[in-house]
Amino acid sequence: MSIISKDIQKAITILTNNNLVAIPTETVYGLAGNIFSKKAIKNIFKTKKRPLFNPLIVHIASIDNLQDIVSEIPEKAAMLAKAFWPGSMTLVLKKNPIIPDIITAGKDTVAVRIPNHPVTLELLQKLPFPLAAPSANPFNNISPTKPEHVEGYFKNDIQQVLDGGACKNGIESTIIGFENNEPIIYRLGALSIEKIEAVIGKIAIKNTKEENPEAPGMLHKHYSPLTKTILTTNIPNEVSKHPTKKIGLLSFNTSYKEKAIVTEIILSKLGNLEEAATNLYDALHQLDSLNLDVIIVEKLPEIGLGKSINDRLKRASF
Ligand code: AMP
Ligand code: MG
Repeated sequence: MSIISKDIQKAITILTNNNLVAIPTETVYGLAGNIFSKKAIKNIFKTKKRPLFNPLIVHIASIDNLQDIVSEIPEKAAMLAKAFWPGSMTLVLKKNPIIPDIITAGKDTVAVRIPNHPVTLELLQKLPFPLAAPSANPFNNISPTKPEHVEGYFKNDIQQVLDGGACKNGIESTIIGFENNEPIIYRLGALSIEKIEAVIGKIAIKNTKEENPEAPGMLHKHYSPLTKTILTTNIPNEVSKHPTKKIGLLSFNTSYKEKAIVTEIILSKLGNLEEAATNLYDALHQLDSLNLDVIIVEKLPEIGLGKSINDRLKRASF
């Protein structure tokens, strides 16, 4: 029997019993548990095979809940929250002492966001506790943007994928931290830098070192298909290097006619970066399921969400 169901009451019961439910958000599906349940949180790490040094994002229903989670709200954090929540932006702020250390990997900061999905907002409003929810995929695998992706990963591990359809934005949230009270981007994501800068002015991007990543979403290898994946700006040239291989192609807006291409997925025929982001992970899931020798992906224009998509493609092909 499928674990995919729209039954919110069932999700409430499972979560209240300290078990896990996969929840829909506008970015990707999350693997959710009660932030105050040690059993649930341990189970998130175990189910995902996520290293304990990689902290979780806390999901809340309303800005009024923010002061229960964090101990300080810098002025620009308040401006960002007001402008973009509910939405695809995560703020990393000084934590409230009630937040368990396992959620924050022992850090004195906590990541928090209000997701913009009607089903999960209703769920969060009805629950007496916030939800910790990292992406609902095994560590390093492709993130899930459809209920079926989660079912494929975790049908033997969890009781329910709460069905909210396909994720509208399709890539993870943009993570913003604060250093000396100034905002800094820890992870590029579904909210573009241009939109952020329109609200708070110029923002820097954290240059993370592999040894001690501020946000482990910044690990060099991440979000990866199992099939060898190559990122390029020149498709015909890259295709010509693999004459005997079965090639799957992921292109931005153009069709390529090279013979060795067995399957081609175009992210957005109209060249729309939002549409490309929405389709990105589903396309990688599809290509990865076809027993190809190699997936060749085309680099997108370095503007708006193109930067965030290229960030993911770099890590998928590392
Ligand atoms: P995921 O939910 O799988 O997209 O992963 C959550 C991301 O948030 C990871 O890259 C975490 O490292 C990042 N994150 C969570 N808490 C913190 C924190 N306190 N400081 C920095 N990054 C964080
Ligand atoms: Mg993840």
